[in-house]
Amino acid sequence: MYSEDFEKRIMDKFSKSEINHTNWQDDDISDIRSSIREYYRIEQKGKCAYCKQSISLISASNCQVEHIVPKSKYLSFISEPKNLCVICADCNEIKKSQEVLNEVPEVTNKKNIKRYPSVRLQTNLDILE
Ligand SMILES: [Zn+2]
Repeated sequence: MYSEDFEKRIMDKFSKSEINHTNWQDDDISDIRSSIREYYRIEQKGKCAYCKQSISLISASNCQVEHIVPKSKYLSFISEPKNLCVICADCNEIKKSQEVLNEVPEVTNKKNIKRYPSVRLQTNLDILE
């Protein structure tokens, strides 16, 4: 999904010591954010990754680039494609406020979210059934 140019610019930018996760909003990478938004909007068929409601197809306001693992805690995942998706404005608000309280965001605990296979998770489910 990234061109080599995008990848290089992100790596260069976020490897500087004075840079932190808030710099994700900087103007110099707005074209990269737009391209990520566009990619996941299509990939997710216009649905929010958390609540599955429709997201904006043109406006960015109800289609926000989301870092599943918070970028405030894991800056190294800031450009990791598996950590990116787009979500609606409501889910974004919920997740943002929960991250501030240092909780595991509610929206990432929903059952219908696709997760990577986990042997331990599978075993737990087997016991429950
Ligand atoms: Zn949502």
